[in-house]
Amino acid sequence: MSLTLHLDTAAWRAHLAEVAVSTPGLVPVAKGNGYGFGVARLADEATRLGANTPALDTLAVGIADEVAGVRQGWSGSIVVLTPWSAHDPVATALLDDPGVITTVGRLDDLRTIVREHPGARLLVEVRTPMQRFGLEPDELARAADLLGDVTFEGWTIHLPLAGDALAMGRDLSRRALAAAEAPVWLSHLSAAEYDTLNGELGVETRLRMGTKLWLGAPATRRVTARVLDLHPVSAGEKIGYWQHRALADGWVVVVSGGTANGVAMTAPSAGSSLRQRAQSLVLGGIDATGRALSPYSIGGRKRFFVEPPHMQSSLIFLPGAGAVAIGDEVPVEVRLTTAVVDRVIDSSDDSPNHEETL
Ligand SMILES: *Cc1c(COP(=O)(O)O)cnc(C)c1O
Repeated sequence: MSLTLHLDTAAWRAHLAEVAVSTPGLVPVAKGNGYGFGVARLADEATRLGANTPALDTLAVGIADEVAGVRQGWSGSIVVLTPWSAHDPVATALLDDPGVITTVGRLDDLRTIVREHPGARLLVEVRTPMQRFGLEPDELARAADLLGDVTFEGWTIHLPLAGDALAMGRDLSRRALAAAEAPVWLSHLSAAEYDTLNGELGVETRLRMGTKLWLGAPATRRVTARVLDLHPVSAGEKIGYWQHRALADGWVVVVSGGTANGVAMTAPSAGSSLRQRAQSLVLGGIDATGRALSPYSIGGRKRFFVEPPHMQSSLIFLPGAGAVAIGDEVPVEVRLTTAVVDRVIDSSDDSPNHEETL
C-alpha cells in the first residue's frame, strides 16, 4: 500500500464531457503514467466519452509500445505521437496496422516509409520553435510530393507552452497547408485559440489534449498516503538512513509513498517565478540544516522530511506531542504527471471532512 487517488468519478466525468463538447476536434492523449490514472483507464474513459461525442474517433499515445495497452479499452484509431524511428521495431510493425496512425518527423524517414510501407496512415510533423521533432518548414513541399502513395492523415504541430501559441500555430499551419491541403493536428492551444484557428484554416482541425483534459477540475480528486508507523524521538537523537539528529522532541512518522511513487517530484519544474524556483529547490533537495519540506500534510500543514524519501515509504518529522495514529490517511501533494498511485478509488461517498485530527 502506498498512495491512493480518491476520485469523484461523476464530477470528473462531467468535466471531461464539458471539454469534449467544447472541443469538437478533441484527441485525448493517454501516455506515460496515464496522468496518474494509468493509460488503460484513460482508454476506457475516452471510449465512454466518445459514446456521446461521435467526432471523438482517435486516441493518442506517446510511443509505439503504449498502443497495446490502450487497445482493450479503445477500438478507434490510435496516433503514436513520438515520430517513427527506423530503430524501433514495434513502431515499424505498426506501420502495417490499419488502426494506427504513425507520426513522421524526418524527410528521410518519410521516404523509407513510402517505399517500404505504402499502406501506412501518416501524420507529418512540422518543426516548431520547441525544436523537438518535425520537418523544417522549407521541407514541407518535398514531403507533400511523397505523400501520394500513403494515407496522409494531416500535418501535426506541437506548440511550446510559452509564447504566442496562436501566432505560431497559425503561421506553421499556413505554411503546411500551402504545401498540401490536409487536416491540421495541434496541441497546447486555449479553447479560444483553437476556435479561432478552427474557423480560419478551412480544414479539419484537431486538438490533442492530455493535462487540461484529465487533470483539469482539480477539486475532483485528492491523493492520500497512509501512516504506517510512528516513533517518539528526543531532540539530538540520531534518525534515518543518514543518522541526522532530530532538531526537537517529536515523532518520526513513517508514511507510505516514496521515490517509486514520484514523491518529492511535485515541484513545478518549469516554474518561472522566483517563488516557484525556490519551491523546486526545497522540494527537490535538502537545505543546509538537512531539512526539506515534504509534500505530506499532517494536522493541516506540510511537514518536513527527516531525509529524502525512500523507495516506498518516507520519514516525516512531526514536532511536539503530535497525536497522529497508525493507519491514518494523510494528504500528499503529488504532480500526477510524474506520480504513480497504487489505487484509484471513487470518492463520491467519502466523508466530507478528510483532514486528520491531532
Ligand atoms: C504529450 C503531448 C501532448 C499532450 O500534452 P499535454 O500538455 O499533456 O496536454 C500533445 N501533443 C504531443 C505531441 C505530446 O507529446
